Amino acid sequence: MKQSKLFMPTLREVPSDAEAISHQLLLRAGFMRQNAAGIYSYLPLAKRVLANIETIIREELEAAGAQELLMPAIQPAELWEETGRWDIYGPELMRLTDRHDRRFALGATHEELITSIVRDELNSYKKLPVNLFQIQMKYRDERRPRFGLLRGREFIMKDAYSFHSSQESLDEEYQNMFDTYSRIFSRVGLEFRPVVADSGAIGGSGTHEFHALAAIGEDTIVYSDQSDYAANLEMAESIDAYPKQDKAPEALEEVHTADAKTIEAVSAHLNLPANESIKTVIFKTEQGLVMALVRGDHEVNDIKLKNYLGALDITMASDEEIEAALHSTPGTLGPIGADMKIVADYAVRALTNAVCGANKAETHYIHVDPSRDFEADYTDLRFVEEGDASPDGNGNVKFARGIEVGQVFKLGTRYSEGMGATFLDEGGKAQPLIMGCYGIGVSRTLSAVVEQHYDERGIIWPKAIAPYDVHLIVVNGKNAEQLELGETLYRELTAAGFSVLLDDRKERAGVKFADADLIGLPVRLNVGKKAAEGIVELKARRGGDAEEIGQEQVVEAVR
Ligand code: ATP
Ligand code: MG
Ligand code: MG
Ligand code: MG
Repeated sequence: MKQSKLFMPTLREVPSDAEAISHQLLLRAGFMRQNAAGIYSYLPLAKRVLANIETIIREELEAAGAQELLMPAIQPAELWEETGRWDIYGPELMRLTDRHDRRFALGATHEELITSIVRDELNSYKKLPVNLFQIQMKYRDERRPRFGLLRGREFIMKDAYSFHSSQESLDEEYQNMFDTYSRIFSRVGLEFRPVVADSGAIGGSGTHEFHALAAIGEDTIVYSDQSDYAANLEMAESIDAYPKQDKAPEALEEVHTADAKTIEAVSAHLNLPANESIKTVIFKTEQGLVMALVRGDHEVNDIKLKNYLGALDITMASDEEIEAALHSTPGTLGPIGADMKIVADYAVRALTNAVCGANKAETHYIHVDPSRDFEADYTDLRFVEEGDASPDGNGNVKFARGIEVGQVFKLGTRYSEGMGATFLDEGGKAQPLIMGCYGIGVSRTLSAVVEQHYDERGIIWPKAIAPYDVHLIVVNGKNAEQLELGETLYRELTAAGFSVLLDDRKERAGVKFADADLIGLPVRLNVGKKAAEGIVELKARRGGDAEEIGQEQVVEAVR
């Protein structure tokens, strides 16, 4: 590619709201443009990086036995109604109606759609297991789209879904995908950690997230300095606080996110400043209602909450029920204090962690027992601190920030049961398909790589995903000898299988070098004053000394 023709609109000034370094650099270097909040165009350089990442993903997944398909982004509402997610997914799901008033969702994820495809087809144990994947745009109306590609509202995801006739088969595929993900993220050049993720009641080994380590990461990873233990802090909090229990208590019955009126009443009781952001979750336990009040900037994540509840087989308490308990029973909201009693403490903490990401929030628990005089308590969560002994008994706790670039999940039969996707087992009996799902944020991965590979002058692409292998710079674009040698080397390198960006522009050398540093191709060849002698300068973007080499050595040296 000749740079004089390349569409690469670099920017001198980046928008002031671009906080993340990857957001700034990708805009400055002309890789992308924003079209709306959280919605971007990928320009030619970024498209090439995406293609490289996608190739690695395809190669590894296909080698691991998965098959690629492509599903629609537009999905009929009826499918989401079959699993109940049309109602519970919340405002993150982008919805639309067609001219006939039929309702659709833009795919935030594809469990329903894929299950609808396979439910009539994978009807015998003989056809299982199967793992199907796609690479496609996903749509989520994120509350806070930010950090450029790291949290978009339209983003590229690789999502895979596997179907099994036994738990053992799912376990095997889960491990297969876990290993495949490790290979993929190593190949793209990320420093990453697989961590135990918050799996609600599905069990500790039911899901792992893959986190790229980076200061901008929105998750806090807790890991041991001496063992392989690593977890998302959300999960670690529950492990740490409840080391002996690995399942939610039976006392937990129902849960509800409080309405504004309740929050107001509780805030008044606790003398909280009126402008403080507060979220309240009410759990209904055998002992009565329990309220968790979360202070600070922590969103009660409805989707997580409802997934968690779904896994526990718990339904929501009705508004009327909560109203009755909180507002109609005299004394229900009495003063907090003396008689401290925490009911179903485990349930509250675990759920609060699970749904609110409450690791840094101050949490109050209020026990509301309609059958007795009001008793209440509040207590803070015990936070994991750096240096604590860990959760698995080996070594001490360390913290790191992580960007979630992927997640693997044992879904079980949640979707297949809801959608009637069954197969006949060896005894001829109909059973629900056992499922796994596996996601990679492709566009987020691109950005995460930049978060780990840059310096003050620009991006430093890892070889495996760089938009071009070699930046061939004709230092003086007006000099015929330099241009000619540039063209010759361009042809030779291309013939040898390298992708080459030839800077043939008539810009000043300083401009060309600055652009080259900004774009960040791993290898640079400067064709300058010694072109007449057939000598060029070889330099790695990562640093180190420039080296003079003869024209005939170039192909070997670049390899
Ligand atoms: P997060 O916790 O960051 O919101 P998630 O857990 O909701 O992510 P998943 O449902 O696990 O995301 O989707 C699979 C992958 O898709 C994630 O691991 C992540 O890499 C990517 N992803 C999710 N949301 C976004 C987004 N808004 N922008 C870019 N990539 C995303
Ligand atoms: Mg999310
Ligand atoms: Mg997540
Ligand atoms: Mg996830």
